[in-house]
Amino acid sequence: MIPPIARRFVAGESVPAALDHARAANEDGVAVILNLLGEHYDDPADARADADAYLDLLDDVADSGLDACVSVKPSQIGMDVSPDLFEEHYREIVARADELDAFVWCDMEDADTTDATLDAFESIAADYPWSVGQCVQSNLRRTADDLDRLVDVPGKIRLVKGAYDEPSSIAYTDKADVDEAYRDDLTFLFERRDRGIAVGSHDPEMISLADRLAREHGADYEVQMLMGVREDAQRDLAAQGVDVYQYAPYGDKWLSYFYRRVRERKENVTFALRAVLGR
Ligand code: FAD
Repeated sequence: MIPPIARRFVAGESVPAALDHARAANEDGVAVILNLLGEHYDDPADARADADAYLDLLDDVADSGLDACVSVKPSQIGMDVSPDLFEEHYREIVARADELDAFVWCDMEDADTTDATLDAFESIAADYPWSVGQCVQSNLRRTADDLDRLVDVPGKIRLVKGAYDEPSSIAYTDKADVDEAYRDDLTFLFERRDRGIAVGSHDPEMISLADRLAREHGADYEVQMLMGVREDAQRDLAAQGVDVYQYAPYGDKWLSYFYRRVRERKENVTFALRAVLGR
């Protein structure tokens, strides 16, 4: 069972719990991106099992009528076995979403997998332009070129700062440089696209920039934030009419995800300690 302390960041262990969470978020005007926790499977059977779980989840989401979509991790559906297996599963999941009028995001993991992930996205988006979106990371030096390549590809693009430690030869490692790259990438997307832009950030500065760029260029966009992080801001933005999606992980592999969230910010450590101490 997930302890109360972790429930801030994880929607539950089961699909019904995740759907209940999505229902509550929808009542606040916030849509949900459901992510089954799991990554780095080197056994094809594990990758197949999670691909199947996503196929079932898409059916459940469609039956529920909730405002929810899903997000998969490449290494969860086969990338660590082979890029071909990943692409086969990714395509199958998006094809099912397309039949159901649903939507699939693909997260971006470490830089060794960027090429294979983008190749798969480009090919799948050509066949299912309304049903798929891909995450890209502004901390990678290559991302400006990748956006140039992706800007006319159908499907959505989620821009994030990047969560993986990469060497300075391929990534900006200074926060100010990452922020500058994010501003540049966001500006490029709004200059060149009129839809399909997702701002995957909690940073108030980047969210204001997106609002300004959207007005300037008349483009549609959405804001995506994590469950448990700035949820007041999520509700406020939704009340102002912004399309807000909350990324909500669920499943029994919640422990390492929870530790990552707690480690990344001082105030989350304080929150965790308070919960443990009962204050
Ligand atoms: P930061 O510069 O880290 O923070 C800016 C401000 O946001 C802070 O000052 C604070 O006010 C607030 N804030 C940020 N984080 C927290 C927190 N944990 N608790 C409380 N306040 C906080 N990364 C990947 O590499 N691949 C992915 O596929 C991916 N998918 C993502 C999907 C979504 C929907 C989101 C929101 C993030 C995703 N990320 C992904 C993570 C991302 O790369 C960043 O590591 C993470 O979002 C922190 O960067 P930030 O833009 O929020 O801003």
